[in-house]
Formats: sequence, structure tokens, C-alpha cells
Amino acid sequence: MSLSAARHWVFDMDGTLTRAVHDFDAIKRALDIPLEDDILGHLAALPSELAAAKHAWLMEHERELAVNSVAAPGAVELVRSLHARGCRLGILTRNAYELAWVTLEAIGIAECFERADVIGRDEAAPKPDPAGLLLLAKAWQISPENLVMVGDYRFDLECARAAGARSVLVNLPENPWPELTDYFAVDCSALHQSL
Ligand SMILES: [Mg+2]
Repeated sequence: MSLSAARHWVFDMDGTLTRAVHDFDAIKRALDIPLEDDILGHLAALPSELAAAKHAWLMEHERELAVNSVAAPGAVELVRSLHARGCRLGILTRNAYELAWVTLEAIGIAECFERADVIGRDEAAPKPDPAGLLLLAKAWQISPENLVMVGDYRFDLECARAAGARSVLVNLPENPWPELTDYFAVDCSALHQSL
């Protein structure tokens, strides 16, 4: 099936629908997380009290970023156009559910998504785990191969692969992970034009 025939689309949020603003190394330094570690993985392994304090810091830091979100080139037009065609749209993010909505409101596309179709880091095991995509496929009563996952990082692509969904990479000048990618576009405008 061609991409333009796809009816079920799942988007990563930060860096995909918004301009990338998270400085993950700065977050790791602020939270005493080794630079080579995964932030959510590291926090999950900490004693609960310490983990809670660091999660609280992370939420405040990310809330500030969410309020000031700026849409990535072509992202708003792409999402609105798919929504207008009657496509079912979801968000799968390693950000928090509540902050995903702050972000979607900030860039003006919140009305294109159903409440239950936004999956944050507490709704399913975070990417690259395929749990969030499988959850959406089940809720939408479709087979995962009918899902298109759009993201800007290898976790998005690995998640798509593991779920059996199609993977689309955007917002990089070239593709560093061709073996994980079914379709590559330099940004959401280029993806939109190809549909
Ligand atoms: Mg991203």
C-alpha cells in the first residue's frame, strides 16, 4: 500500500511536529545522569523517592518548553490535511501525556487528535518499545502494518519496526538510519507534498 493510501498515522511529537528544543545533554547534567544513559531508563532504575524528585524537575523543565513550542516546518499543514481527509491520528511521545496536550494546543493542532489517541511515557512502555503503537493499533482495530509512524529519531523507527508498522523519518538533512526507514523526507512539508 502506498503511503498516500494510509489512513492511520502516528506521530512522534518533539522534533517531529515541533522544532527540536530539548537539550538532552543539559537535562542529563542537571539530573546527574551519565551522558551515555537513556533518561527515562535511568530514572526508572532509581530508588522511588529520588526518581520522583527527578521526574518532578523534568516535568517542570518540559512544561516550560511545551508552552513555548514552535511547529516544525509543514507539520501543522500535514496534520490538518490528514485530519481533513478523515485519517485517524495519534501521538506517541516519550514526553508526558499532559505536556503533549500543552504542546499540541500551543501549535494549534490539538483538535485533530482524540484524547485516547495520545500516548505519553506513562500510558505505555516508552519507545523504542512498540507497546504504544500496538496499543493504538488495537484501539483502532487495525493490523499494525496499516500504521505509519512518523518521527525524527531512531527510537521512532525502531518502534515502528518492532511493531510491524511503516516507518517515516523527517527533519534531518539526510537519513542516518536507512536500514530502519521505509520512507524519508527532509521535513513534514516534503512528506505532505509526496502524499
Ligand atoms: Mg522526537
